[in-house]
Amino acid sequence: MAANTTAAKKTADQAEPVACTCSQFATEDGRTTGCQAETKRLFAPGHDAKLKSFLIRMGAEGTEVIRTVDGIASSADASTHAAKFAFGHMVAAGITRAETKAAEKAERAAARAARKAKAPAKITAKVGRATFTGHMDGDHFVYEVKGKERRTLKFQTA
Ligand SMILES: [Zn+2]
Repeated sequence: MAANTTAAKKTADQAEPVACTCSQFATEDGRTTGCQAETKRLFAPGHDAKLKSFLIRMGAEGTEVIRTVDGIASSADASTHAAKFAFGHMVAAGITRAETKAAEKAERAAARAARKAKAPAKITAKVGRATFTGHMDGDHFVYEVKGKERRTLKFQTA
């Protein structure tokens, strides 16, 4: 019964489902969209978005993408592949955005590293009977008690 229904449907659509277009794309190190879908259209539902984000990711990395169609592999950068689809401009824009983001991230990381390099080294010292973590400021040990900064000359480092 079920088989009959499927057969009838196939005849009606005049097409066999084929592998989704997004599964044609891979990187040299074997990364793909992970697609195993079959569809009668160019893409399985939502897989144009899948391919789009895959190409953006690879493009931002500068990784070449290989498209294999009917056993013929062609290698190109992500935006070249994307240009063959309606969403090509979105991929190009996405790559630019990702690159900008990456540059900003690197800048922030560098700023953070610079701040860290400047931050005084943390030390642990005994003040009276309690032990605190703070830093040295000249001869003073500077530490915090309940959010208030205190400094003292009378302390003992561990
Ligand atoms: Zn797919």
